[in-house]
Amino acid sequence: MEEYHLIDIHTHGETAEGVITPRSFAIHPFDADKELSKNFQQFSDRYLAKFKEVQTIGECGLDKVCSSDWHRQLELFDWHLQIAEQLQKTVIIHCVRAIDVLLSFRKTYASTPWVFHGFTGSLSTAEQLTKANIFPSFGAAIIDNRRIKVRDTLARLQQPFFLETDTSSIAIEKIYQETADLRKTTIPELISTINKFYNSLFESANK
Ligand SMILES: [Zn+2]
Repeated sequence: MEEYHLIDIHTHGETAEGVITPRSFAIHPFDADKELSKNFQQFSDRYLAKFKEVQTIGECGLDKVCSSDWHRQLELFDWHLQIAEQLQKTVIIHCVRAIDVLLSFRKTYASTPWVFHGFTGSLSTAEQLTKANIFPSFGAAIIDNRRIKVRDTLARLQQPFFLETDTSSIAIEKIYQETADLRKTTIPELISTINKFYNSLFESANK
């Protein structure tokens, strides 16, 4: 029998025992103006040589609200996507008010799955993304009763998705519980569904 784990697809905290988070690396768009990002090639070569077990590239992406230079963000994101294609890794995406630009990148870089982390959008946006092989990941926002749109999306979404804690101090167990309640399913069912998707995605793209 396969053993299933809670999967926290994206966290900045310590992963609790028994919880799986893929090892990843990237430069966040918040840091796009920093010195480090100017030498991204060097940085990534060094990092990847040191940590051969990197499973995902992320979080990287585009943020129209943060103060980082937009053109620099585009350049940096492009670098990350090139590496992801080269290494055939899933990408964890940070995207704020830039879905159109994200989808235009997808036309060039489409050979591995992407995960749209911290998704809080509508059901139709989630469906549009999954059509492009970009899967939403939901975090602590879904716990908040006032976040009607994202809770509705999570309740009704038919396509695969992930759950995450990101920077929240809310436990991943609580996010699974709320998701199971919203989707009128059980935690073991939910864990099994997410594990199967995780395995299929990582078997195909992260050998
Ligand atoms: Zn994050």
